[in-house]
Amino acid sequence: METSKCIIIGGGPAGYTAAIYASRANLSPILFEGLQPGGQLTTTTEVENFPGYPDGITGPALTDDLRRQALKFDANIQSGIVTAVDFSKRPFEVTVNGTDTYTAHTVIIATGASARYLGLPDEQKYMGMGVSACATCDGFFYRDRSVAVVGGGDSACEEALYLSTIAKKVYLIVRKPQLRASKIMQQRVLKKENITVLFNCNTLGLFGDEVLEGAKIIENQGKENEQVFEIAIDGFFLAIGHSPNTDLFKDSLTLDKDGYIVVQGHTTATNVEGVFAAGDVADPHYQQAVTAAAMGCRAALDAEAYLIEHDDL
Ligand code: NDP
Repeated sequence: METSKCIIIGGGPAGYTAAIYASRANLSPILFEGLQPGGQLTTTTEVENFPGYPDGITGPALTDDLRRQALKFDANIQSGIVTAVDFSKRPFEVTVNGTDTYTAHTVIIATGASARYLGLPDEQKYMGMGVSACATCDGFFYRDRSVAVVGGGDSACEEALYLSTIAKKVYLIVRKPQLRASKIMQQRVLKKENITVLFNCNTLGLFGDEVLEGAKIIENQGKENEQVFEIAIDGFFLAIGHSPNTDLFKDSLTLDKDGYIVVQGHTTATNVEGVFAAGDVADPHYQQAVTAAAMGCRAALDAEAYLIEHDDL
């Protein structure tokens, strides 16, 4: 197969935006979307802060718009999962679905980040039977029931608010004495009658016969007024941040202590010339759809500049 000018790994806002720019620059990019086209946008409810959508837009609809825009400029979007990369060879090798090898002169990594779990054995035990990291996907099952959301950031507040429209009762389990979420989200959560915020609380474990029936909570852990109590819940939703999807790259690229790809200065260049990174996989700080999209744009421009500089490729 002919060597591509540009392969993009990941179908979130960063990947699709990179595809829009790379296509318009005649790089004929191939984009591999992976298992979950849209990435985390598919698990979000209403996106209210993506410029250009004054009335808000759902995550899946925004994904569809970005994807259609990339297709309009003839990006080659494929549903394969990248299972290996070899950046020690030139051109670079990208293996898809374990079997098919593609080669490219530049690679843009936009593999995003995945939801984190607390690491309790009970999370595995009740996975799919009460434990979830996606309220939009699974909230529907909890109509008129009681649920808990863990976390104090924007995601946790968003999930709690969404669930409060379906469930009878929502507990928000927050380990600190305050929420980290933006003020507007805090206000919405604190105003909502069927949401109870449990500040200074951590989850010790989950219980229930076969399906989840409750959680054991510890308040003020290690302090004089420490107390342990139980809440009756049918659903337990994690919203405690994300880990970058960089397993594939840990042997070939420089990662920071949390596993995010390190980019050089104001560019999207990684430590391997010709390999660029964009979006949440390389941005532990902003993690917004719009900043991911912007970084995808920058990665495509960086790839284009690299190819112009290496016009013998
Ligand atoms: P954040 O990192 O902002 O928040 C994670 C939350 O989980 C924090 O409250 C943190 O607590 C808590 N947490 C982490 N680990 C544990 C643990 N082991 N036990 C208990 N609690 C834990 O992640 P988000 O996913 O909420 O947001 C990521 C980014 O995306 C942010 O920039 C956010 O603003 C943005 N975002 C924006 C949205 C919007 O504007 N509509 C929607 C969703 C996300 P602590 O505070 O104590 O560290």
